Amino acid sequence: MSSFAARFPLAVCLLGVVLGLAGCSSSRTTTSPTPAEEAPPSTPAPTLSAPSGIQLASLDIRQRAALVSWTGVANATSYVVEVSTASGQSNFAVITTGNSNTVLQLTDLPAGGYVYARVRAQGNNLTSPPSSELRFYLQDYKYLLEALAVQTGPYYPTPAPFDGVRGWPAGTTVRIRLSNTVTAEQRRGLETVAAQLAVSGAPYRATIEVMDNNQPTFRRNEIQVVTLANACGTGMGCTVYADTSLRQGQAQVFGSVVLYLGTAGERGDAADIAAHEMGHALFGLWHVHYQNVAEAPQYPSHFGTLEFPFMTMYASAEPVFRSPNDRLSDLELHVVQDLFRSGVTAGARRADLQARGLIY
Ligand SMILES: [Zn+2]
Repeated sequence: MSSFAARFPLAVCLLGVVLGLAGCSSSRTTTSPTPAEEAPPSTPAPTLSAPSGIQLASLDIRQRAALVSWTGVANATSYVVEVSTASGQSNFAVITTGNSNTVLQLTDLPAGGYVYARVRAQGNNLTSPPSSELRFYLQDYKYLLEALAVQTGPYYPTPAPFDGVRGWPAGTTVRIRLSNTVTAEQRRGLETVAAQLAVSGAPYRATIEVMDNNQPTFRRNEIQVVTLANACGTGMGCTVYADTSLRQGQAQVFGSVVLYLGTAGERGDAADIAAHEMGHALFGLWHVHYQNVAEAPQYPSHFGTLEFPFMTMYASAEPVFRSPNDRLSDLELHVVQDLFRSGVTAGARRADLQARGLIY
């Protein structure tokens, strides 16, 4: 402002205009202003530039939390982050950081849609324009759990053959027996999923061994894994269940499982396919495919983002592309852990999951 005083005799009046004081403009009419003085004052007023580079640094789908970062602005002493469920809005939250850090953890975010975020810098009593807008999709973890546990909801809207959760009964020791034709890649996927049982909180356990043949039989408390040319019509894999009386069909409580995988060189000769089938066989998981999520990737090769990580139990595979998952993803393992931690095992009903707040 001091530069005004030096350059303009009407410095006080100009200040008055800037400050919105009444009566100043009328006093100006009594002078004989030059054209330059008639023009609005030039604007050397200090400004604060908008932060740039806003991005999603990490995303916790289960906790509905996101870490957002941006490139800071000189002289900024604080930032204001506007969060919304619609572009250009701030209808969800406006958070003033109160410090010059350029990261912020957003929590309790709304799930099942896009989240938008912008950031403004603050300093010297100034607030900058907003940064460009960050947009990311936040999956709904409850829908994910519902698809994997009971095969319903928008992420896999298919009527399940029974109401509730399937899998092995508590107290079982599941004997996993691999045909001696199982390839090294297949074995990797099978063993890593089997190893996850120990950290899943499951009330049952498993052992794993190689058997000396490739002829499957339904035997109590066993998962037998065999290879078969053009397995299941695709050369990938499929899983066949028997209930505790060893009757084959859509068993809710497993008594025996046979897992077929394609032969060496077929698509089923892969850790991701083997892990997927073992996800069915050992944990009783169903599929996720995001059918009613228009924003979801359509092909497995398009996954692998913070918003849509690779899912081992995704319902489809590509002929050439192999998911890097040779085990349940972190998100899928969390689903399993949340189920077991809540005391949910094979035979539990949908209402049991609802009562525990696991699904809507
Ligand atoms: Zn499957």
